[in-house]
Amino acid sequence: MQGVCLLGATGSIGQSTLNIIEQHPDKFFLACASANESVDKMADICRRFLPKRIVMGSQEARDRVATLCDGLPISFEWGSEALDSIAEDAQVDQVMAAIMGFAGLKPTLAGIRAKKRILLANKEALVTAGQLFMDEVAKHGVTLLPIDSEHNAIFQSLPQDEHGAHKRDFSKIVLTASGGPFRSWSLEAMKEVTLAQACAHPKWSMGQKISIDSASLMNKGLELIEACWLFNVTPNEVDVVVHPESIIHSMVSYRDGSVIAQMGNPDMRVPIAYGMTWPNRVATSVEPLDFVKVASLHFEAPDLERFPNLQLAAEAWYLGGTAMAVLNAANEVAVDAFVKGRIRFLDISTVNRAVLHSTDIQSVDSLDIVFAADKVARVMTKQYIAERNWL
Ligand code: NAD
Ligand code: MG
Repeated sequence: MQGVCLLGATGSIGQSTLNIIEQHPDKFFLACASANESVDKMADICRRFLPKRIVMGSQEARDRVATLCDGLPISFEWGSEALDSIAEDAQVDQVMAAIMGFAGLKPTLAGIRAKKRILLANKEALVTAGQLFMDEVAKHGVTLLPIDSEHNAIFQSLPQDEHGAHKRDFSKIVLTASGGPFRSWSLEAMKEVTLAQACAHPKWSMGQKISIDSASLMNKGLELIEACWLFNVTPNEVDVVVHPESIIHSMVSYRDGSVIAQMGNPDMRVPIAYGMTWPNRVATSVEPLDFVKVASLHFEAPDLERFPNLQLAAEAWYLGGTAMAVLNAANEVAVDAFVKGRIRFLDISTVNRAVLHSTDIQSVDSLDIVFAADKVARVMTKQYIAERNWL
């Protein structure tokens, strides 16, 4: 039996993870769980799964969950230290890092230092802390399994030696992108995009922030950086290909001309279950792929003019140091401003570019530098947005 610590239990990845736990009660139990503010959803999780400990983002949210779950043998906690501590809990074998954004970095690192298996959905953690994150993984001998569907596909398409390490006999990684809801929209039409349109992803049902990132292609930019850290490559060794059907989740091109792809219906329970059970597999109840029904697969190049975020991410990688943390922070603030109706959809990349280009980039030799860069970039981005008239 594997004890799971589910960070971000009330989110989209959280719910899919709970579904896998529920389907395999002989293999997994929910040991600990966290959420920020979703009191009712967390109370429901407590009743269904009886975790040993849960952590909420505030004392008020904790108190409300505790009241709703009065009498259940659960420790109700709140705050950042408690969040780190559930990732280290003795009952936990694997940590599912499914918090949204930079907020997920600290508890994920706590899980790494406690030598838990890390299931990484929270791409922002790896994008911002990059080398330091990977160094911690190596130092503590931790198994890191990518849950992001593209990276999970790449992981599945790479050969592994007896230690699980990847051999470098591939020539390129091919990162597929759905293209999001505005793939075929003109720049003119994209000026008037609403929040609901930006969140209506054609193929995946996901949390709000990643849905908007998918629409602006920032998600693919973050994933490009994520792939570079995970598989030890540079952006020019990664081709991004738009593939609207989202059946091929990514591919690896080998030096002999072979290309290996991982395919399936788009459902996050596949990469989640793979991470939880690797090197084995379990049933997920995801509908098997029917090739006749799919009939055809399409591919096109991404349009960097309409979607400049992808290019910005590559630029941040080459700038190095704190550039990736700065770009990520700018984007988190810009997306939030778009959600609140303060800027328009296309302004997200304008803000991202301006903040990336006007910030001093430092080399990263400690995590404190990453946290400081994130903080400064957030302040700068808020200021940049507040000083201008966007609407
Ligand atoms: P979501 O918004 O649906 O859920 C986020 C979860 O994190 C919630 O439980 C929320 O309570 C918690 N949370 C949010 N802010 C927090 C904070 N400041 N402190 C503590 N907890 C906080 O998001 P999601 O779609 O499930 O995505 C989670 C992560 O997984 C993101 O990093 C995303 O990029 C990544 N991811 C998601 C998908 C997907 O299909 N949804 C696919 C690949 C990667
Ligand atoms: Mg993805």
